[in-house]
Amino acid sequence: MKKRMITGITPSGKMTLGNYLGVVKNLIDWQDEYDLFVFIANLHAITLPQNPKQLKQNTEEIAALYLAAGLNPENVVIFKQSEVPAHSELGWLLNTQTSMGELSRMTQFKDKSQKLANKSSIPAGLFNYPTLMAADILLYEPDFVPVGVDQKQHVELARDLALRFNNKYGENFKVPEPLLTKNKIKIMDLQDPTKKMSKSSLNPKAVLYILDEPAIIRKKIASALTDSENVVRYDPENKPGVSNLMTIYALLKNTTPENIEHLWEGKNYKDFKDDVAEEIIAILEPIQKNYQEIKRSGKLETILNEGALRANRVAQKKVTKTRKKMGLN
Ligand code: AMP
Repeated sequence: MKKRMITGITPSGKMTLGNYLGVVKNLIDWQDEYDLFVFIANLHAITLPQNPKQLKQNTEEIAALYLAAGLNPENVVIFKQSEVPAHSELGWLLNTQTSMGELSRMTQFKDKSQKLANKSSIPAGLFNYPTLMAADILLYEPDFVPVGVDQKQHVELARDLALRFNNKYGENFKVPEPLLTKNKIKIMDLQDPTKKMSKSSLNPKAVLYILDEPAIIRKKIASALTDSENVVRYDPENKPGVSNLMTIYALLKNTTPENIEHLWEGKNYKDFKDDVAEEIIAILEPIQKNYQEIKRSGKLETILNEGALRANRVAQKKVTKTRKKMGLN
């Protein structure tokens, strides 16, 4: 039997090249090997303020981009998190098993809440986010949860909660493996290459979006922050900007930055950036074309409905069993 894997993406903005290279590209490669569940985490997106119309649009755009990038809905279960109510329900049930101390220790909560201007109105949802994420995982009993380093602590909480629940109420949850990431890829911000490229970034010049047009891509890469040495050498610590562009190029070419250093030997940053931009455009153009076709075909809704049906079948069973264990029905 195939091993099961679950992964989510938060529709808090447009899909970035970081998402594509960090996770989407791998999922496309893994979809035949694993029993794969992919959800668009719109319930996580609302832990910070969202414009409803924009949220709906981002959710559908991300789902369509997964398909456009090559995810096959016949094999992969792709769905909107909010269309599987068991996520919210189990999230609540697990909240009752979690302490405020545990949630306060989550570094992502500390980081995100610190960024909010008004400290007196930090949303409770931001605080409780990890219990919802534990529910996302425990509902599907996956063997593998491909998360970035930033999510490691949350997977550990899911593991603690599963063990705690099983001890208290009897065997119910499969304990997810602690860290399960196959890839440690991190694409950095084009304007501040010491921080991760993020779809919720406030500086659009710093982020490459999957749907950016070629002219925009050329412009963003041309203005990406580098250094004054003008030598293309892979050195993430001292030359984070150039090294980030080399990482991007290497991933698109399925090789390592060290392997391709010689390609730009003796060339300046302009030549190098031109090559990187053209390679990104070559990879993104077919995805953008597929995306337009998916939108035109009107198939997205059917695919997401079918995905939700399949996910509901699995998740509903688990939440019903959990309710019974807790004496709720
Ligand atoms: P998020 O955009 O935070 O919802 O993350 C969705 C997935 O994309 C997660 O698996 C992240 O680890 C991955 N991801 C997001 N941004 C990047 C990035 N800049 N580089 C690599 N992976 C990323």
